Amino acid sequence: MATRVTKPVRPVPKAPEGKKARKIAATEPVSPKKRPGRTVKPTSPERVAAILDALRKTYPGVVCALNHRNAWELTVATILSAQCTDVRVNLVTPELFRIYPTPQAMAKASLPELEDLIRTTGFFRNKAKSISGAAKLVVSEYGGEIPQTMEEMLRIPGVARKTANVVLGSWFAIASGVVVDTHVLRLSRRLELTKETTPEKVEKDLEKIIPKDRWIDFSHELIHHGRQICIARKPRCADCTLETICNSIEKTWSSH
Ligand code: SF4
Repeated sequence: MATRVTKPVRPVPKAPEGKKARKIAATEPVSPKKRPGRTVKPTSPERVAAILDALRKTYPGVVCALNHRNAWELTVATILSAQCTDVRVNLVTPELFRIYPTPQAMAKASLPELEDLIRTTGFFRNKAKSISGAAKLVVSEYGGEIPQTMEEMLRIPGVARKTANVVLGSWFAIASGVVVDTHVLRLSRRLELTKETTPEKVEKDLEKIIPKDRWIDFSHELIHHGRQICIARKPRCADCTLETICNSIEKTWSSH
């Protein structure tokens, strides 16, 4: 009698679990509009509140990352931070403010002296002109004190809405607007809080949906999130506390 040979059973591969499974799923992109979680309007008050809540819990007590001791120093540091990291600015400002501790002192500095001190922040010639002009105007028009209105701040050389919002918000606790830097712009679009592409228009959109008492902290929280997690090239979605709310097409990993 012939012996029946039992066909060896091929082990069934285990379905990937956890992060691995979700990473694999994420390789087949699904339009954000078709994702199952996509039932509410991206700018609905409930969704915006959920984003604000998650950000506050993730970054409690967050503050401006530029070192400063007064409104003048914060103004100068913010001007220097254009196209430059806050870490780099924080390396430059101690020596700058040691040599020129007040607007009066900086107003008397020559441009080459200022350029030398701020060279490593990039665009140093324009920035030197801006901080020199800012010092002169603050001394001549505002008695050496940074003013506390948007209108007056915008008269200072080198100060646009972003810098004015940073100083008014972080130093004077005046919610004059939402700071829109490169991180806030990128994240606001990824979180579908705006479709705009210019800082001015993004700011307007955000101010319509973010409660005014959250304008100041919201900017800081988004800037921190943009630096640490929702980075420009490959957002770290697997580590993101907003992941379940986020439907961005740029996600690198998705749970839904
Ligand atoms: S899930 Fe990803 S894309 Fe969305 S906010 Fe978080 S890091 Fe950014």
